[in-house]
Amino acid sequence: MQAQDALIRELAVIVGTGSVLYREEDLISYECDGYVIHKQPPRAVVFPATTEEVSQVVKLLHRRKIPFIPRGAGTGLSGGAAPLGGEVIISLVKMKKLLHVDWENRLAVVQPGFVNLKLTNSVASKGYYYAPDPSSQYACTIGGNVAENAGGAHCLKYGVTTNHVLGMELVLANGEIVEIGGVPDAPGYDLMGLLTGSEGTLAIVTKITVRILKNPEDKKTVLAYFDSVEDASHAVSDIIAIGIVPAALEMMDKTAIEGVEAGNYPVGHPPGLQALLLIEVDGISAGIEDQIEEILKVCKQRNVIQVKVAENEQERAQWWANRKTAFPAMGAISPDYLVQDGVIPRSRLPEVLEKVEEISKRSGLRIANVFHAGDGNLHPLILFDARKPGETELAARVGSEVLKVCADVGGSITGEHGVGIEKQEEMRFIFTEEEIQAQTQIRSVFNPENLLNPDKLFPKPSRCAEVRKAVGHL
Ligand SMILES: Cc1cc2nc3c(=O)[nH]c(=O)nc-3n(C[C@H](O)[C@H](O)[C@H](O)COP(=O)(O)OP(=O)(O)OC[C@H]3O[C@@H](n4cnc5c(N)ncnc54)[C@H](O)[C@@H]3O)c2cc1C
Repeated sequence: MQAQDALIRELAVIVGTGSVLYREEDLISYECDGYVIHKQPPRAVVFPATTEEVSQVVKLLHRRKIPFIPRGAGTGLSGGAAPLGGEVIISLVKMKKLLHVDWENRLAVVQPGFVNLKLTNSVASKGYYYAPDPSSQYACTIGGNVAENAGGAHCLKYGVTTNHVLGMELVLANGEIVEIGGVPDAPGYDLMGLLTGSEGTLAIVTKITVRILKNPEDKKTVLAYFDSVEDASHAVSDIIAIGIVPAALEMMDKTAIEGVEAGNYPVGHPPGLQALLLIEVDGISAGIEDQIEEILKVCKQRNVIQVKVAENEQERAQWWANRKTAFPAMGAISPDYLVQDGVIPRSRLPEVLEKVEEISKRSGLRIANVFHAGDGNLHPLILFDARKPGETELAARVGSEVLKVCADVGGSITGEHGVGIEKQEEMRFIFTEEEIQAQTQIRSVFNPENLLNPDKLFPKPSRCAEVRKAVGHL
């Protein structure tokens, strides 16, 4: 208890007494992130306001060998910001300024706690926007987006976070402050690529330079209803195959549609639909009408039962609100849900969905499917009731089975939500023991004592690997 008091006092010297939480009742909100099935309170939560304060806090924790976790808004869905036992959380939410906009070079410099949507809102008056648009963009931070390499509906055409980050300031695991990137095509290793998506295990991001894009001249949005998931899936492949890259190409299945219609932003989709596609094209006005014609033709060839183009911005915004609130809307049809995040080759969609349906039937848990279909990123939402004994564990097992299906068709276990603690074991579906070891060696270069977000992202070494390491074969 005394050691704890001493730690809190020392943290308070750096950030001020009002910026350290340590009482049991204050720590409850930090027991988990959006992956709510794992809960464990942190040792303390500290809120630095500057890079220098982050550095001082890290130096203190490093000196005392106390593990620590960077945290943004805590919307992560794989447990990346969740404590495992004894960590201090370093919350970046006080570092929430837009530091600079360079209109000439089309870039913005933000602190890590700056909320994603605020960036678009801040540059909109001059006709610019920030492209990566996770559905959580009203809450999640750009620091968290960098750590997870976040995607979003419009990342099909414009790329995910890594394609928009130009430079970073970092606080390393020993408290040293460094800058990376900033120079186009700099020689040497691609540290920006390595850091983006590193889930807070390599460094704490304290400043980020990102691209901002000019708004497209025009955009049009199409809603297409199908009475077969297979037809909708084929329409997705056909649209890409004829050479159109929509800004967004989203799909929801029957159960997901039931959820969004019961949620806060219903559109009035007809009952009994098996699938819908939400398709958006953007660019110069001259080409848009032709693309829409082509898309309508493809949908008709794939037996669409109804297809319409949004008549105005209000209708478009309503369709997007309906889609972007799909995860929380599941709360209207199920007491609990677990969000999964697999990736598959687009062409394997019908077959994968059939297998997901089989898993659902076998387990007795309903699965709603929401996809960034254009880039093959599935979000099966496993509906369960945590009050029923064993059902939470069953939901986690079902999630793992779904990811195995994705891996087996040549896909991946995460498209954008990261591995965190949720999918550590599932890393073995993709990587051999040697490949996992190679990656943990990279982590050791940045984070040699594993104090920074420890024991996340990689599975624990298997018994067999430990034996081989002991005899010098790894
Ligand atoms: C309703 C809902 C919808 C979502 N939709 C999407 C979506 O469309 N696309 C998508 O990609 N994700 C989505 N997510 C997941 C989540 O919003 C993203 O992963 C987001 O990037 C997390 O940002 P955050 O600020 O909440 O980070 P947190 O949850 O606080 O942290 C996430 C990870 O980043 C690390 N981290 C945070 N800040 C830093 C930092 N400054 N430096 C180093 N590491 C850091 C943490 O340690 C943790 O490992 C959704 C989540 C919800 C709840």
